[in-house]
Amino acid sequence: ARAQAMEVDASPDVTYEDIGGIDDQIRDVREAVEDPLENPETFETVGVEPPSGVLLHGPPGTGKTMLAKAVANESDATFIKMAGSELVRKFIGEGSRLVRDLFELAADREPAVIFIDEIDAVAAKRTDSKTSGDAEVQRTMMQLLSEMDGFDDRGEIRIMAATNRFDMLDEAILRPGRFDRLIEVPKPDAEARERILEIHTEGMNVADDLDLSGLVTDLEEFSGADLASLATEAGMFAIRDGRTEVTRSDFEDAVEKLDSAEETADRNIH
Ligand code: ATP
Repeated sequence: ARAQAMEVDASPDVTYEDIGGIDDQIRDVREAVEDPLENPETFETVGVEPPSGVLLHGPPGTGKTMLAKAVANESDATFIKMAGSELVRKFIGEGSRLVRDLFELAADREPAVIFIDEIDAVAAKRTDSKTSGDAEVQRTMMQLLSEMDGFDDRGEIRIMAATNRFDMLDEAILRPGRFDRLIEVPKPDAEARERILEIHTEGMNVADDLDLSGLVTDLEEFSGADLASLATEAGMFAIRDGRTEVTRSDFEDAVEKLDSAEETADRNIH
């Protein structure tokens, strides 16, 4: 079960070119993660410590996981992912054990990028309730902080985390020496949406008159993940219709389908 909680990818295949609309964030991540992995001696010579941990925050489906994978790939590092929810365990000491395993694995596989998704699951602000479950989560977080504090060889292992709930985080994890580099990954604006859809339609046989920029103007609520689904759904409409070319009306049908799926989901939540 322990091994399953982590996803290890010796050479992830995501590149920076696959990520649309967040060039500034790519630049920041390269500086905080790739440069120290590739040129640790520069940091030593200049006498600065690279950031200890990089926290990506922003809405779901905006490319945070992609960004972490891409920087691991482009730095020739092993990508080790753990979901914060996996660290929330029933038995005492189990979460802390997993955190230790995570850092041990990274030491074995260095250079490595550790990526903790949904870090809010273990690093939410303390609530007043003193249930034992909370105390156990707290211990797991302390273990994570102590692993980060105890790090010497920062060049070879870089730590990243992501959250959709930045407002919920315990400030203790944001102190210097911990997640001290914050990078916001926002929902895409119109230009970013166009770039993302361009990326996801690159390998598709789309009609020449397809106007991506016109198409994405009104899709204000669409995340990168939504735009990826949009391209797939549009392709499915063409296939269902027995065509090999994907047209503007396929994309419009796909928008309608995704919108109504969203509404159904909203109704089920509220
Ligand atoms: P979550 O917070 O839900 O974990 P995330 O921000 O980590 O989301 P990703 O897992 O990186 O989002 O993105 C999911 C999928 O959406 C990607 O595999 C990709 O297909 C698409 N996608 C999201 N953002 C982008 C982007 N900026 N450029 C291109 N594709 C994107």
